Amino acid sequence: MDKETVRVIIDKLLIIQERDCHIARCQRELSDIPNLKQNIETKLNQHKAALEKSKVTIKTRLAAVKEMEIEIETFRQQIAKLREQQFQIKSNEEFKVLNREIAALQEKIRGLEDTEIELMETVEQAQREENGLKLESAKAEGTVQSEIKQLDDRRKSLESELQQLQTNRQGLVVGIAENWLARYNLVMENRKDVALVGLDGNACGGCHMKLPPHVLQDIKRANAIITCSFCGRLLYWHT
Ligand SMILES: [Zn+2]
Repeated sequence: MDKETVRVIIDKLLIIQERDCHIARCQRELSDIPNLKQNIETKLNQHKAALEKSKVTIKTRLAAVKEMEIEIETFRQQIAKLREQQFQIKSNEEFKVLNREIAALQEKIRGLEDTEIELMETVEQAQREENGLKLESAKAEGTVQSEIKQLDDRRKSLESELQQLQTNRQGLVVGIAENWLARYNLVMENRKDVALVGLDGNACGGCHMKLPPHVLQDIKRANAIITCSFCGRLLYWHT
């Protein structure tokens, strides 16, 4: 082949390669969109879960307070009964025994009341936190909707861009010899990035392995497309 023919083929293949890289970029971005959507939804679910957990905590603590109140009420009734008994008692000793029982119950009530106050304080704290969580969750819900919409819009625009690029590519391959195109396509399929590379000094521009002098000469003579024996990419001499 003469230099000019090789040059023409390389120039055409380089344009196709530029399109293929563009197509690959679009495809990568497109394939990332479901993950991005998933991440957004996970974030929202985390907000919802935190809010749900806070509700359960508050409910559990309020139930504990309620139980303490019932217990306190029981102790109070016991005290009232002991006081009634005291009216019917004649011996001073027995009266004192009941007094001690009453004092012990009152002590228990004070203990429970202290715990109840502490618990109520934690409930109030949790309620304040819950209000913050509610705000955050509502805010997240709002941004999620717009973020999902943005991603859907991006997907649509990428899909139409891809379609255009592929149609454009079909036009570009017209007139390129079948065997050249097959060679290019095969390398592209294997390497996944670029098929056609220039020189990087005395090395292959793709895998950066140093090339033997006779290969360099062949490339510079530019009357054929040379394959890199290390990575299989197609080497060309760029002037
Ligand atoms: Zn190489």
